[in-house]
Amino acid sequence: MNWREKVLDFDNIGDRGEGLKGLIFDVQKFAIHDGGGIRTNVFLKGCPLQCLWCSNPESLAYKPEITFVTNNCIGCGKCLEVCPAGAIHQGETAGEDIIIDRERCTLCGQCAKHCYAGAINIIGRYVSVPDLMQIIERDRKFYEQSGGGVTFSGGEPTAQPEFLKAALAEIQKRGIHTAIETSSLLPWDVYASILEHVDLVLTDIKHMDDAEHKRLTGVSNQLILDNIRKISRLGIPVKIRLPLIPGINDSDSNLEATAEFVEQLSNVQSLDILPYHRLGEMKYRQLDISYPLKGVESPTVEHVEERIRALRERGLNISVGG
Ligand code: SF4
Ligand code: SF4
Repeated sequence: MNWREKVLDFDNIGDRGEGLKGLIFDVQKFAIHDGGGIRTNVFLKGCPLQCLWCSNPESLAYKPEITFVTNNCIGCGKCLEVCPAGAIHQGETAGEDIIIDRERCTLCGQCAKHCYAGAINIIGRYVSVPDLMQIIERDRKFYEQSGGGVTFSGGEPTAQPEFLKAALAEIQKRGIHTAIETSSLLPWDVYASILEHVDLVLTDIKHMDDAEHKRLTGVSNQLILDNIRKISRLGIPVKIRLPLIPGINDSDSNLEATAEFVEQLSNVQSLDILPYHRLGEMKYRQLDISYPLKGVESPTVEHVEERIRALRERGLNISVGG
């Protein structure tokens, strides 16, 4: 499936009446890095963390958002004509981009619908579990042949617990493997009720020092670490993920503390090192947000290998890149 078919597939999610709905911003098919085999990854919108390196800024808000891709705009002016709120203006000088007044925008979607150049998009739509199952079921044979399944990611998928639980339960009932990619930042009773329907947990440890964790993500790591210990006691398989960001969390002391924590757990399949990249930077521009980690470069392969050598020497099962 090419990118255009993927977008159409996502766009064609129907609206099957009222009832429980989740706010999702993407569905990626044929994913191979997030839980084993060939998977469908479902991305839920909204996140309680604000990690400085987040590569999906469009995932953070708990509501749909509008994005503008400057390079796609052909200057036809159609969006100005159709906007019922008067929220789109031409830039003041010739050749300047259009300007979207996000305060005034009602997210009606008319501009995105009429922009044939694909320069304006609405990120996020509400879907029901039956909507989602239609898409998931289309690739059943690939899950079965590859040992794959469905992974819920985000944003933070557990931030929509009722929808997530209902979707996971339905997927499991149909015999499809389930995984969640989560920060583990949520009350344990809610987490436990979600985990009843989860075959594999992918969870981050971003920094072991609580003060640094707060500075980098906006929240304490205490609940996260407590929850990971509790999952270990339940015996649910876990992959721990460590986003490796030069000069931010790749010091000897932090890597050692992370390794010590992981070694205390009984259910860890692997410690997955996710080297920092800047691929999400342009998305910040599309949302009119400034990029928080300006000046931090992606690590070289040699730097990553040098940084994780000590982890490998401890006998941990390390994978790089998820
Ligand atoms: S409709 Fe699309 S291509 Fe035309 S001016 Fe608006 S954003 Fe640009
Ligand atoms: S989504 Fe609707 S209100 Fe918002 S800018 Fe587009 S046309 Fe205007």
